[in-house]
Amino acid sequence: MADPKGFMTTPRQDWPRRPVEERVKDWGEVYVPGALLPIISKQADRCMDCGIPFCHDACPLGNLIPEWNDLVSREDWRAAADRLHATNNFPEFTGRLCPAPCEAGCVLAINQPAVTIKNVECSIADRAWEEGFAPPRPPERLSGKTVAVIGSGPTGLAAAQQLTRAGHTVAVYEKDDRLGGLMRYGIPEFKMEKHHLERRIEQMRAEGTKFRTSTAVGREIGAAELRSRYDAVVIATGATAWRELPVPGRELMGVQQAMEYLPLANRVCEGDLETSPMSAAGKHVVIVGGGDTGADCLGTAVREGAASVTQLDIYAQPGTERDEDAEPWPTYPKLYRLSAAHEEARELETAPAADADARLFAASTLRFTGDADGHVRSLHLVEVDAQRRPLPGTGRTLPADLVLLALGFSGPDRGDGLIDQLGLELQPRGTIARDAGFATNVPGVFAAGDAARGQSLIVWAIAEGRAVAAAVDRYLTGSSRLPAPISPYDRPMTV
Ligand SMILES: Cc1cc2nc3c(=O)[nH]c(=O)nc-3n(C[C@H](O)[C@H](O)[C@H](O)COP(=O)(O)OP(=O)(O)OC[C@H]3O[C@@H](n4cnc5c(N)ncnc54)[C@H](O)[C@@H]3O)c2cc1C
Ligand code: SF4
Repeated sequence: MADPKGFMTTPRQDWPRRPVEERVKDWGEVYVPGALLPIISKQADRCMDCGIPFCHDACPLGNLIPEWNDLVSREDWRAAADRLHATNNFPEFTGRLCPAPCEAGCVLAINQPAVTIKNVECSIADRAWEEGFAPPRPPERLSGKTVAVIGSGPTGLAAAQQLTRAGHTVAVYEKDDRLGGLMRYGIPEFKMEKHHLERRIEQMRAEGTKFRTSTAVGREIGAAELRSRYDAVVIATGATAWRELPVPGRELMGVQQAMEYLPLANRVCEGDLETSPMSAAGKHVVIVGGGDTGADCLGTAVREGAASVTQLDIYAQPGTERDEDAEPWPTYPKLYRLSAAHEEARELETAPAADADARLFAASTLRFTGDADGHVRSLHLVEVDAQRRPLPGTGRTLPADLVLLALGFSGPDRGDGLIDQLGLELQPRGTIARDAGFATNVPGVFAAGDAARGQSLIVWAIAEGRAVAAAVDRYLTGSSRLPAPISPYDRPMTV
């Protein structure tokens, strides 16, 4: 570190967001462009180089955080980019989208605001692209082995890049018309502009990875046929089978799944559609589900011009401070967090019923009622205790012309037939079963990412992609020098 007292003299400063009034009028990222670079070296200098960096362990990729903090504090961007790319294929994705469990594990966070690790990561990645420090790295020689990767989300892309660089000939099969998985159709543009995705895909093409879009394995091409054409297959198809809300009125028009709604907004941003056929414009919107997908619906509905937006969370409102007994440092605590979308909702007072921002906590949906045309018009809810028992006298009704269900995902979607055609064994919760080496019960077929781990995060997906690549490389060649940051059994740090 350039200044050993940086953590005592420099307060934490996050990447400033654009004013709410300005940013909700467009789909661009919420941050002030160019505002990170002038502050980031001083922020990196807050790293104490504590000696036992729990941030390493808290990051599934094992990112070398103190090392690149030091390099950024000294403005050695090239070396910082090298160290960052040594553990993370796509730091511009995690630098924008990761909830940063590393910051919860930062030693400084024991009694001060953590180092802005995620911001440092993002600035290194962006600077690397600006300065040309992230060139394509094609392999020096080919192995003669072929690998099919099914799915182009962060897991599939990371696996494909690692395997291509190791010399294997890799084709990525993707059923959507564009690459990127949930980062393309799911995560809104205001969280990550898609040109970041395009740039990486171009890098991968230049390295030799082949992409086949609009090709659902199991439908457009038989899974067994694919298996016979390649030396190894990696299944990275995600976990997109959504959870349902079986309450009266669910069948009404206007009660939609979040993942029916969000991709349409992505398509507007891509230029495929003028407006979304499910647009929230002028509608009273209620989002059922308090997680990040719900928050993405919130930010999207605000930008589409909803008349009102409320988000329901079945859990009680968490506190703003870590509960040291229940969730001690360095675990990732459940806290009341104000995402960019919630900040927008609070400032614009979008919700007709919520108190602080658009969220109603400890709220359980009882039923929906509709009009004579069968369209939803109201949502009826009740407050619940920690055991989800209704509290008498707390019933209320919200206006609702569009209800978005954001209740999470139960496992991989089986509609394409891939799982059945290969005869893959599943875990009791519906995800694809695999052994300690990421291998499924079918020889030469490996599974990684949300499809096998269950609904997770991009940082875990990239770690899965890197680790499965090492396993496949070993399977194909007998040994591997590729890094494997996690095992299939690793889980986030908990008490
Ligand atoms: C709305 C939303 C917002 C999120 N926001 C964040 C966030 O901000 N930060 C974060 O860390 N995580 C976030 N997540 C979670 C994160 O996106 C996932 O954990 C991650 O994308 C999983 O990566 P994956 O590659 O395993 O699967 P996916 O990203 O789901 O990719 C799987 C791909 O496989 C393709 N596919 C499926 N079946 C077939 C087939 N038969 N043939 C060919 N292709 C197939 C799919 O079309 C898809 O492109 C979010 C999730 C959602 C739903
Ligand atoms: S990937 Fe996530 S956990 Fe890892 S260093 Fe970046 S922000 Fe932290």
